[in-house]
Amino acid sequence: MTSKLNGFGTTIFAEMSALAAETGAINLGQGFPDTDGPRAVLDAAIDAINSGGNQYPPLPGLPDLREAIAEHQQRFYGIELDPASEIVVTAGASEAIASALLGMLDAGDEVVVFEPMYDSYRANIAMAGAIAVPVLLAPDADGKYVFDPDELRHAIGAKTKLIMLNTPHNPSGKVFTRAELQLIAGLAIEHDLVVVTDEVYEHLAFDGREHIAMCTLPDMFERTLTISSGGKTFHTTGWKIGWMTGPANLVTAARTAKQFLTFVSGGPFQPAMAVGLRLADSYFEGLRAGLQATRDRLCDVLTDVGFTVFKPEASYFATVDIRSIDPSGDGYEFCRQLPAKAGVVAIPNEVFYARPDNGRHMVRFAYCKQMHIINAAADALAKGFAS
Ligand code: PMP
Ligand code: GLN
Repeated sequence: MTSKLNGFGTTIFAEMSALAAETGAINLGQGFPDTDGPRAVLDAAIDAINSGGNQYPPLPGLPDLREAIAEHQQRFYGIELDPASEIVVTAGASEAIASALLGMLDAGDEVVVFEPMYDSYRANIAMAGAIAVPVLLAPDADGKYVFDPDELRHAIGAKTKLIMLNTPHNPSGKVFTRAELQLIAGLAIEHDLVVVTDEVYEHLAFDGREHIAMCTLPDMFERTLTISSGGKTFHTTGWKIGWMTGPANLVTAARTAKQFLTFVSGGPFQPAMAVGLRLADSYFEGLRAGLQATRDRLCDVLTDVGFTVFKPEASYFATVDIRSIDPSGDGYEFCRQLPAKAGVVAIPNEVFYARPDNGRHMVRFAYCKQMHIINAAADALAKGFAS
């Protein structure tokens, strides 16, 4: 194995979903919904399969899907995009992230990342021969995840080419505020950096919060590559239809790498995703409301069990500090024991850190599940931690 992948092992999602399958525990680890998405979206994929949509789509994606992505960006963010040069469909957000990093980075370049972070960022940066420079996101006294602007300023060195952003954020559930984004944007402009922003949870900001797309900030469009995916929004995580949008030069850099990863993927799912992206606003509102309800229920349960809970502002996940229950503060070991102790699988947050000690005591639970599953997990956790 290449030394670039030293230490990456098997992803935590594979490990913990296997543990759930083995033990029969309720899987609140890997973030996937346990219900199907909208009927019209599913039917569109079936229709495409039944009507010959089974061969390679064009490299940048089916024209109608690129059109639908442009309409979506216009409807939700007021952005005008040229579907021919500013949009590329990818194999999930994952391939868009890999393509962007492989397509833009040279060996030895530095990338500023906020830790904790989705685990593929660090692996893709390593594959590019580049270096991840972490800036810590940590809960403040009110449990709200924040970063220290000075740490960010110091992280930007002469070799920094790119800032990797994720808002709404996995695993913390943080929604970056306009002020925070302005600060990041200001530094990106000052140091002439590209921002690659992963916004797969764009429709899942709760309590009336607004998700702000980085590319909508003044002077940021031309230096921002925006990435999203239909997996979370349409309950189709297994379809792996994602996309990247931005100025033609950044899209071209990423597309040049993308063509040698999968070339293309998901033929019959592409027209179906176009149907999803064109659903009425009420669909997106209903999705958010449903998740907000399971978030509230799960957070109450975790609080009752005795964890310190960092209530997420968005996304699929709630993080807890386990030390009030388990003074060892070893989240990885805690997650290995959890199926036997309480019949539930969770994810140790340390895997999301460049400096694992920063997240050793944190554990992430997914609530993108039906309420009766959250209720069953509640009973199991209450019983498991009763003593
Ligand atoms: N980014 C984040 C923040 C995620 O949580 C995920 C997990 N689904 C991905 C990217 C990958 O998205 P996809 O499944 O569309 O590749
Ligand atoms: N994004 C999901 C999570 O964070 C699933 C990731 C995966 O399975 N690779 O749980």
